[in-house]
Amino acid sequence: MELTYKYGFSSGKKCYLEDVIQLSRCCLLEPEWHIGYNDLICKQDIVEYIHELPLLSFPRETLISGHPICNNSKCMLVDNNKIHTIIVGLSLACNLKCYNCWYDGCHYDSQKKKDLYFHVLYGLKGHNLNKIVLTNKGEPFFYLKETLNYLSSLSINDTKEIEAVTNGNCLNKESINLLKSISKEKGIKFSFVFSMDAVTEDTYRKTRIGGDFNKVLTNLSLCVDAFSPENILVSFTCKRTNKNEISLVRSFYEQNFGLNTQISFDSYEPELQQEIKDIYFIES
Ligand code: SF4
Repeated sequence: MELTYKYGFSSGKKCYLEDVIQLSRCCLLEPEWHIGYNDLICKQDIVEYIHELPLLSFPRETLISGHPICNNSKCMLVDNNKIHTIIVGLSLACNLKCYNCWYDGCHYDSQKKKDLYFHVLYGLKGHNLNKIVLTNKGEPFFYLKETLNYLSSLSINDTKEIEAVTNGNCLNKESINLLKSISKEKGIKFSFVFSMDAVTEDTYRKTRIGGDFNKVLTNLSLCVDAFSPENILVSFTCKRTNKNEISLVRSFYEQNFGLNTQISFDSYEPELQQEIKDIYFIES
C-alpha cells in the first residue's frame, strides 16, 4: 500500500493505520490533503509547501465546546492562511505497550518513516511558528538523541514553543537539563503533557505496560523544577485497570507536584464512561 501522508484535519479513525502518516492540526475534523511519501520527502520547506495547498478555513464554531483537544486547537486554525501551530504525529515509535493503546502492534517506524519524521521536523524551521507539538502517535522522546539534536537546532525564529505529549520514561536528568538549557538559551518555551494514568506503582504497571512508575515520577519532579508547574499537565485516561484511582488522581498530582490533571475516557471502553461519571460525577 502506498505510504500516505495526510495533511490537515483528520477524524482520528484513520490515524492509527499502519500505512498512514499524518501531520494534523486537529483530530476531530476530516482530512483535507494527502500526499505520498515520495512527494513529501522531496519538500525541503514543509511549511511553505503547506501554505501552497488550497486550504479550507474552519470557523471557530465548528469546534465542540468543552472538548479539551478542541479548546487547545483554537490556536491551530488557519488564520488568514497563516499557520501558527503544527502538531507532528508522524512517528509511531514507543517504548511502552500500554493497555488499550490505539497503536498497539505499531510501536516502531521503518527507517523510511523515521527519516520522513525528522525530515518534516527540520522542514518546519524558519517560519516563526507559535508552537510545534510533538505528540500523539508515539513517544516523542523515543529517539532521544535525534530529538534533542533537533530541539537544539531550533531558534525563536522557528517556534516560540515546543509542547511534548510524553509517557516520561525516556527522559532522564541529563536530557531534562539539556531541554532546560535550550529553553533558556533560545528563549523557547517548553511545555509537557505527562500521560500518567495511575497514582500507584501497581496500577501503573498494569496500565502503562513496560513503564517505570518511580522513574517517571522522578522525571516529572525534575520537569516541575526545571519548567514550573504551569507548563506541565498530567493526563489520566480512565480505564478498567485504573478506575479505582480516579477519585485520587487530582489530589495526588496537585499535592505532590502542584500539577493539574486532565481526565479523559478510554474510547475502547465506552461502557465504563457512564459508570465512572455516575460514581465520580465527572463531566465529559
Ligand atoms: S505511551 Fe502507551 S499509549 Fe502512548 S503510544 Fe506508547 S504504548 Fe501507546
